[in-house]
Amino acid sequence: MSLRVFLLLLLLAVPRVLAEGLPDLGDVAQAGFTPLQERKLGENIMREIRADRSFYDDAEGTDYINALGNRLAAKSPDARQDFEFFLIRDPQINAFALPGGFIGVHTGLILSAQSESELASVLSHEIAHVTQRHIARMIAQQKNNQALSIAALAAALLLSRASGQAAEAAAAFGSAGAIQGQLNFTRANEQEADRVGMQILERAGFDPRAMATFFERMQRATRIYETGAPSYLRTHPLTYERIADIQNRIRDGSYRQVPDSLEFQLVRAKLKAQLDPPDEAIAFFESGLTERRFLSEAATHYGLARSLLRVKNYARAQKEVEAVRKVVPASPIVETLACEVAQASGGPAAGLACFRNASKIYPSYRAIVYGQANAHLLAGQPDAALKVVEERLRSITDDYRLYLLQARCYAALNKHLAQHRAQAEAYVRMGNLTGAVEQLQLGLKSGDGDFYQLSSAESRMRELRRLDDEQKREARKQ
Ligand SMILES: [Zn+2]
Repeated sequence: MSLRVFLLLLLLAVPRVLAEGLPDLGDVAQAGFTPLQERKLGENIMREIRADRSFYDDAEGTDYINALGNRLAAKSPDARQDFEFFLIRDPQINAFALPGGFIGVHTGLILSAQSESELASVLSHEIAHVTQRHIARMIAQQKNNQALSIAALAAALLLSRASGQAAEAAAAFGSAGAIQGQLNFTRANEQEADRVGMQILERAGFDPRAMATFFERMQRATRIYETGAPSYLRTHPLTYERIADIQNRIRDGSYRQVPDSLEFQLVRAKLKAQLDPPDEAIAFFESGLTERRFLSEAATHYGLARSLLRVKNYARAQKEVEAVRKVVPASPIVETLACEVAQASGGPAAGLACFRNASKIYPSYRAIVYGQANAHLLAGQPDAALKVVEERLRSITDDYRLYLLQARCYAALNKHLAQHRAQAEAYVRMGNLTGAVEQLQLGLKSGDGDFYQLSSAESRMRELRRLDDEQKREARKQ
């Protein structure tokens, strides 16, 4: 989708009430911009992000960052707020909060964090921006500014922070400086996010000094390379005052060594193995092992195995998986990789046998559920694949990837109505109602399905069309 179309859509998507009659700072939580509206705005932005190339939909990475983020959010002052964390494929060290509790985490942030506490410190800070309602206040402050509408603000926020397209956003809205001025939280907001973020970090059992350590290292790196400060530093200009502030707060804390979780180490290694050119990744992990220079031996073997899988060196990948198993307790992340290696080297039957076993030990682990269903499909067993997917859909109903798998199963079974219906349900969960209605239309025209299935699909189509029309009407009123 072109930038202009996208901006137009965002403009249409923002409820009118956001743009006018906004109360003064401080009253935002009570009137004008309700948490529900904030969530809706966030969901609209998320729909675009999910369709963006930079959206990194890795089940294991996403599950990890959500587990960590929710563990932190549970210790925040407003534990009722819903959060959804997602990954953005971008080497820049950055994280950003959208309206409604959606928090984007750049893969570059995870890769550059030297400890889980460092990663947690940045997440805590972003969580604090949300729970302290800084975004609502930021939007509220726009009321007297004619130059930038709220939607433009949201779009620029997304584009400049998530997709690294600050230049394009600037071209659309005027100078980059103007956008930056609009997008930055106030100094007071930043201080509050530091303070509250620190409390969250500590209550969740992480090292409270990690924030200062991480910021200092980022600043050193910036000084060395000078060009292109990490974007997190650009949006969070680091002053000596700010470091001193953080250090003052932790001065009295006793020294606490907080070990990293195995998941942190493995997910970090996975991102490096998947995102770097394979040869570079192999060289990186190999030299880590020979020089014994690593944060985690297990993760280094794991990363090497993943990198070797990418270049189809299955025998060595297999050996490295065995090496991981020798040094750490059993982990679904390791088993998933073991099954991927088994499948790539031994074919669908070998993969299937492995995923089946793994699913007995980790029945609710997403990557294993997907892997097992996919292996059934590759082995020419769509019925069995469908059973795996539908078993999971009984308890999880908001996962669009399950519906995409379901659609593949029905396609393999030549059940066209059911295929389009599953595809439609996937679109609904991705926020694309128009696409969902189109899928149901295709399904109804496919000449497939019995009376009951047809009338059920028809009533679902009517329901979704009504919702879609409602949304479009709402947008036209702006
Ligand atoms: Zn901040």
